Amino acid sequence: MTLLEQYAQIVGEDVIHHLQQLGEHLQGLKVVHVNSTREGGGVAEILHRLIPLKQELGIDARWEVITGTDLFFQCTKLMHNGLQGKRGELHPDYLTEYERVNEMNAESLRTNLEEADIVFIHDPQPAALLRFIPDRRGKWIWRCHIDASRPFRPIWKYLRNFLEPYSASIWSLSEFAQPLPHPLYLVAPSIDPLSEKNIELEEDELAAMHYKWGLDPERPIITQVSRFDRFKDPIGVIRAYRLVKEYSPIQLILAGGGATDDPEGEEMIRWVKEYAGDDEDIHVLLLPSDDHRTINAFQRISDIVIQKSTKEGFGLTVTEAMWKGKPVIGGDVGGIRLQVVDHHTGFLVTSPEGAALRIRYLLKHRDKLKEMGEKAHNFVLENFLITRHLREHLTLMHAIMFENKERIETS
Ligand code: UDP
Repeated sequence: MTLLEQYAQIVGEDVIHHLQQLGEHLQGLKVVHVNSTREGGGVAEILHRLIPLKQELGIDARWEVITGTDLFFQCTKLMHNGLQGKRGELHPDYLTEYERVNEMNAESLRTNLEEADIVFIHDPQPAALLRFIPDRRGKWIWRCHIDASRPFRPIWKYLRNFLEPYSASIWSLSEFAQPLPHPLYLVAPSIDPLSEKNIELEEDELAAMHYKWGLDPERPIITQVSRFDRFKDPIGVIRAYRLVKEYSPIQLILAGGGATDDPEGEEMIRWVKEYAGDDEDIHVLLLPSDDHRTINAFQRISDIVIQKSTKEGFGLTVTEAMWKGKPVIGGDVGGIRLQVVDHHTGFLVTSPEGAALRIRYLLKHRDKLKEMGEKAHNFVLENFLITRHLREHLTLMHAIMFENKERIETS
């Protein structure tokens, strides 16, 4: 079975057929994606799946990864944070290194980049490549995965110089975008239903989770999966749990990563553990970052998933939980608002009290919980799977390649 056919079981033959039709006019098109890491992070994860799918459709899709020095990555980290609004000085040494590394990578990727019909440049790290490929023949598109709604101005101004000559840019949400003198496209993130994080799990495996993690299978479980970050509001989650606990014998899982490279994260974990105290029904769990299967299982054994963020990008944990048929009680911020349709696929909340109220309501009205979970699953099926992501990439490539044609016939 081909990769695409595997998705047919989930999204139906029609969707796959449509993708194949869209692919027909893009046969042999040379497409290059460039980012700065092959492993780790959402961008790499999505490219690992999108590239083979494009290839299967007959597109000559390639994925190149730029290399850099420590200084370069320190600089691009500052840029990343700067786009998200954090102040930080781009010292001239940083800028020299940023441009030098891009020039060096342009040299080694030159033939590929010059010959490509479409080049997708992901995030700020390789954004300056375009300047060093003056003889490019294709269209270049900058893909921003970051919330740049309120950037630190000096950093944005510097980067904007490199971005203006692009043919287009792609943003995850309209709120995240900055004005640029070219068409701006919106492509929301997606999850892969066939990945370890989302694949169906057997009942036996799920049942074993209770035993393994000391959970009572007879009592409701509420879960939040998140990095231990103040904006994910784990303390607010515990407060909501305590308010519910006065009436109902629930258990709480707060599962997150180790955060070894994040001093603030370690402090947050300490704070959360201290706040949880000796309550045996609060499970603060630190998992290795590649333990996707355990996250998958926690989301599946939960009655309700909570994502009480006070700031959020898109919130893939919300998508993952909804895909598993769980209603999500989410903070009324960022991409959560795009996914949690209040009172339909979950509830939007702005306080621990609000979250507690909604948890109690859902635990009491099991029929509603089930109905919302089903709606949540269908909403993700329609909107946030990788097949939709691929379709939008294909239609965007059509728009870019055939911009003057009014009509494109597909067979
Ligand atoms: N995640 C994980 N292990 C953890 C915490 C999070 O695998 O301990 C995953 C989670 O399942 C999701 C991603 O990391 O796929 C987090 O993405 P999201 O958009 O929710 O938040 P971000 O961390 O990017 O702010």
